Amino acid sequence: MMEITLDLGKMAEMRPVNTLVFHPGKCINCGMCLQVCPHRVFAQGERRVRMARADECMECGACQRNCPAGAIEVDSGVGCAAAMIKAALKGSKEVTCGDDCCR
Ligand code: SF4
Ligand code: SF4
Repeated sequence: MMEITLDLGKMAEMRPVNTLVFHPGKCINCGMCLQVCPHRVFAQGERRVRMARADECMECGACQRNCPAGAIEVDSGVGCAAAMIKAALKGSKEVTCGDDCCR
């Protein structure tokens, strides 16, 4: 009988850390995601942008909202925790990452 061993640490490493999905085939290389992402997840590639720091995505949703080509999907239901805390402290209903966000 074959024995199967589960390495839970390895499984945790393989689990996606966020819901960000990039569809390079749809990208028209407009550069909006480079401008709006507060965590510099995207970087300029040769013919289109590329995901350079996917693990840094905090699911704020700015890239998806601003991508004119529908090339980015992210579940931004929770959003960036730092931006939410800042908005709560300021009493603001609008939760957005700004220049002073957690880069
Ligand atoms: S969801 Fe926000 S943090 Fe994540 S890649 Fe898009 S703009 Fe950057
Ligand atoms: S915003 Fe969308 S279309 Fe524009 S560069 Fe980024 S992924 Fe490509």
